[in-house]
Amino acid sequence: MDNAMTHSTESTIAVAGAGLLGRLVAWQLLRDGHAVTLYDAGDLEHPAAAAWTAAGMVAPLCETAVSERSVYEMGRFALAQWPRWLESLDATDLWHHQGSLMVAHAQDMGELTQFHRDLAHALDGEPPCQTLDDAEIHRLEPDLAESFRQGLYLPDEAHLDNRALLDRLLAEIRRLGGTCHAHCPVSTFPGEVETRDGRRAFDLVIDCRGTGARQHHASLRGVRGETLHVQTAEIRLSRPVRLMHPRYQLYVVPKPDQRFVIGATQIESEDRSPVSLQSSLELGSALYTLSPAFAEARILEQGVNLRPAFRDNLPHVTQRDGLITANGLFRHGYLLAPAVACHLLASIRGRGEQPFAETLTGHPPQEGAA
Ligand SMILES: Cc1cc2nc3c(=O)[nH]c(=O)nc-3n(C[C@H](O)[C@H](O)[C@H](O)COP(=O)(O)OP(=O)(O)OC[C@H]3O[C@@H](n4cnc5c(N)ncnc54)[C@H](O)[C@@H]3O)c2cc1C
Repeated sequence: MDNAMTHSTESTIAVAGAGLLGRLVAWQLLRDGHAVTLYDAGDLEHPAAAAWTAAGMVAPLCETAVSERSVYEMGRFALAQWPRWLESLDATDLWHHQGSLMVAHAQDMGELTQFHRDLAHALDGEPPCQTLDDAEIHRLEPDLAESFRQGLYLPDEAHLDNRALLDRLLAEIRRLGGTCHAHCPVSTFPGEVETRDGRRAFDLVIDCRGTGARQHHASLRGVRGETLHVQTAEIRLSRPVRLMHPRYQLYVVPKPDQRFVIGATQIESEDRSPVSLQSSLELGSALYTLSPAFAEARILEQGVNLRPAFRDNLPHVTQRDGLITANGLFRHGYLLAPAVACHLLASIRGRGEQPFAETLTGHPPQEGAA
């Protein structure tokens, strides 16, 4: 990181963006004794953040098949870091470390085999997962359709009740005396934040605005994702289940109160308009094939949001005097935020090693130093 700068205690720090990264960083800095002001362009209770739309999976293996090896390493870091943070938040109930399950219909078994091969290739060896037969699948998830004959169990994956986590982080930020401004879009500058009311000076500004930070990153893009939230008492799942299909991978993530988040789509578009009929039909019918018990589920919500991504689909942290920007968490926010936040915090604290410095430090591809 260039121009590394230490802020021991009691600095005035502005955090722009109260999504996942912004809340985590603000909370940690308040614990360190800084005076933190958190700004968000939208609502804080029902945020416009991608973090609110997300499914909350912490899935290093699933993501490795489609990402860089560093995503796997940072994901492993997250599996160790989240329980520590949740313990200090008194929120261990939000963490579910029960692995994830991948299944495919008989005609799509090749997808599962290919996924296993891709993983072995990415990890340069046999991946830590188990092939299951139908009896083993149903021992893990008794309510899945009986037609699944083979599956893959990835024991070292987890999921979070992400909306409850965002709520608890906000409550803790307020309890620790953080100042929170909702509906307050800002622009960030070294040592300054600009709101509609003018500029305000801080010792340090941290920009966590996700797709709202284009001002700083010419190469930042939004990648559309769509979700359905359904509720039914007819089926229980203990872990995320992914349905492999030649055209998409559907995932279903269990949430409290018999709610389920279903998603699949990753669309190279910055369109924030509502879920299309085609996506809705595809998600619904794939869900029904996972278990006909979903037929009577009630659709509570359809979500659309943009994942903040750079050209290399990796996160980047840049720093100049008085301004740190952290962005590009793409489809792995919950997986990568611990690594990104700990990297950034180590720099501010001026002590401890900055984890993943090689991956995270420096300017995103196609962007020079500003
Ligand atoms: C459909 C979907 C499913 C996903 N599922 C998963 C998953 O299962 N696991 C996983 O690891 N990741 C998942 N993600 C990715 C994850 O949500 C993102 O990577 C993560 O939220 C990025 O965090 P962030 O804090 O950088 O940005 P965000 O969470 O988007 O937060 C940015 C915040 O900045 C605010 N902001 C923007 N502009 C301004 C401004 N000018 N002034 C002040 N505030 C501003 C926004 O209002 C927002 O609150 C998913 C994403 C989507 C869309």
